[in-house]
Amino acid sequence: MKEVQRKIRALLEAAGIASRIRAHDRVAVKLHFGELKNDTSIPPEYIRPVVEAVRACSGQPFLTDTCVLYKSVRDNAISHLRFAADRGFTLGKTGAPVIIADGLKGSDEITVPIQGRIFKEVSVAAAARDADSLIVLSHVTGHLATGLGGAIKNLGMGFASRKGKLRQHAVLKPEVVRESCTGCGACLEHCPADAIALNGGRASIDPETCIGCGECVTVCRFDAITHDWNRDSVELQQRMAEHALGVVTGRQDRAVYLNFILSVTKDCDCMPFRQKPILPDIGILAGTDPVALDAASLDLIVKKSGKELAELSYPGLDGRPQIKHGAEIGLGSMEYELIEI
Ligand code: SF4
Ligand code: SF4
Repeated sequence: MKEVQRKIRALLEAAGIASRIRAHDRVAVKLHFGELKNDTSIPPEYIRPVVEAVRACSGQPFLTDTCVLYKSVRDNAISHLRFAADRGFTLGKTGAPVIIADGLKGSDEITVPIQGRIFKEVSVAAAARDADSLIVLSHVTGHLATGLGGAIKNLGMGFASRKGKLRQHAVLKPEVVRESCTGCGACLEHCPADAIALNGGRASIDPETCIGCGECVTVCRFDAITHDWNRDSVELQQRMAEHALGVVTGRQDRAVYLNFILSVTKDCDCMPFRQKPILPDIGILAGTDPVALDAASLDLIVKKSGKELAELSYPGLDGRPQIKHGAEIGLGSMEYELIEI
């Protein structure tokens, strides 16, 4: 553990943290506190060296994330904060307090004008924009809707307010495969919008009420709910990249990113169950460009495993559209140079 902590400090220094944080900056350390029964997210022990590095720049770090759309201990700030503390993300252990970036119910937000292809303004968690600088810690994983969970997703979905998340998810339209549905009712219990009913012993979804959170796809153990990935995922990824742009626009020189390509799992850290890694640990990437970092993460997975992340997680669900779109709208560049330290 000590060796990893030392490397995290060295990576932040190599990425130029000293030039990104000014004295007295309020520094948002964006992370994901994990989920019940899910133990593969970034542990609190890895946060301490990040906090120390921010303090060495005379910054004021706080740990932060936003509330989620689906039913979870993280769907409001009170239980989210309790869960983070239970997970060990305490002031005593990490050296920094936790602030839920979009407030009690996900509605503390700032509208940010952007030059996107889809949006001309996006809704971002208030604390994400009120912070002077950002350290974005992302656990690289597969994802059932976006193909890749990395820096772009951590910024774009992870720092969107509730309204921002809804505007991204609005493209997802899940459908029930009636022949596969057993009528078990699990999806009804988990649907946060009450959009699912049982008709004739089979689930059916009201598309007008559905908010596209994707929770039903995850909880159905009979593969009876699907998305049309080709139709939905590319636009979801593009919307996500545009929200990521809204988080950093005007201050792209005030952020540092770490991508943890460790314990890479098929699904993201939101899943309420234990997951086995789908490939051996690769390492930690540091940089100042979320697009380059995500591109390098996917390339390294191919180099080390001989397979695309999609082949290992959700075949046919390519996570690269978010990277390509991010580059097209000025979130970053797909060009990078890897320097090993
Ligand atoms: S969870 Fe799946 S099998 Fe169960 S009711 Fe919903 S769609 Fe049908
Ligand atoms: S039906 Fe829609 S709102 Fe309900 S869980 Fe599925 S995706 Fe989410």
